[in-house]
Amino acid sequence: MNNGKNGLQLVVVGSIGIDTIETPMARQERILGGSASYACAAASFFSGVGMVGVVGTDFPDKCRALYRHFNLDLQGLQTAPGETFRWSGVYEANMDNRRTLSTELNVFADFSPNLPEVYRDVPFLFLANISPALQERVLDQVKSPRFVLMDTMDLWINIARDDLLRVIRRVDMLTVNESEARLLTGEHGLIKAARKLLTMGPKHILVKKGEHGSILFYDDHIFLMPAFPLENVWDPTGAGDTFAGGFMGSLAAEGTVTEASIRRAMMYGSILASFGVEEFSLDRLEKLDAPSIEKRAGLFREMIRLN
Ligand code: AMP
Repeated sequence: MNNGKNGLQLVVVGSIGIDTIETPMARQERILGGSASYACAAASFFSGVGMVGVVGTDFPDKCRALYRHFNLDLQGLQTAPGETFRWSGVYEANMDNRRTLSTELNVFADFSPNLPEVYRDVPFLFLANISPALQERVLDQVKSPRFVLMDTMDLWINIARDDLLRVIRRVDMLTVNESEARLLTGEHGLIKAARKLLTMGPKHILVKKGEHGSILFYDDHIFLMPAFPLENVWDPTGAGDTFAGGFMGSLAAEGTVTEASIRRAMMYGSILASFGVEEFSLDRLEKLDAPSIEKRAGLFREMIRLN
């Protein structure tokens, strides 16, 4: 782990939001969220990260200070007149199902990402969940990235399918959950859906299965990564973003994309996501340090050891 000491290796574009969330454990109002917040914080434990996004003039100073705590490069973070993106959701008892109560795009409605010059040569790019038109705009501005991961959600599959398919065609890895894989492909079976997604552009498809871990599909191969078992989950919001951030941070720190580095990155993604859901917002990641990550990674390796 280098905690950002190797310069800027990774750029993340995504949402930055103020969330109100109710889980079976608790309800929290106006807390920091957004796909980019979770992903950047998780990645920061491994590599230097530049954040691309927009906040409103109401964005609390303490949230900006928290980004600094994670050593994020904020040259790509714009502040626009108006209010920060807001989202609220409620989880059912099993925490698998979530209902969105409200989404207010606010400053995201007119956002046009303009990458600082130093971001354009970056080798690793994560297009976190945000409208595919914005993802494409960022992709158009990076020169020749070594590896691009993208995430999406059912909303964009439903309302911006053509834009989405255009971006999917240009990335190295797509990450989706099971229902998104079905919605995108029309295939009910996961393997069939993943095979179809592999024909749409990306060389790798990473399917997130929540507390059941994740599955990587590439060529004719399948690789399984469990989730680290937890006794208490307080808030699963952003788990996928935290996984993806840990994944991209680890990959960026290694610098090379091989089967082995991708598998290791999936393990770190799993570990970071397991910490993230132990508390709301970035609260657990804020207290996290490298030794705790390595300690849990050691326990995890022991859990999946075969000999
Ligand atoms: P996840 O649990 O991975 O779906 O990520 C949750 C985060 O996504 C929350 O912190 C929200 O602020 C953010 N979010 C919710 N809806 C959207 C949207 N339409 N576009 C971008 N981000 C969103």
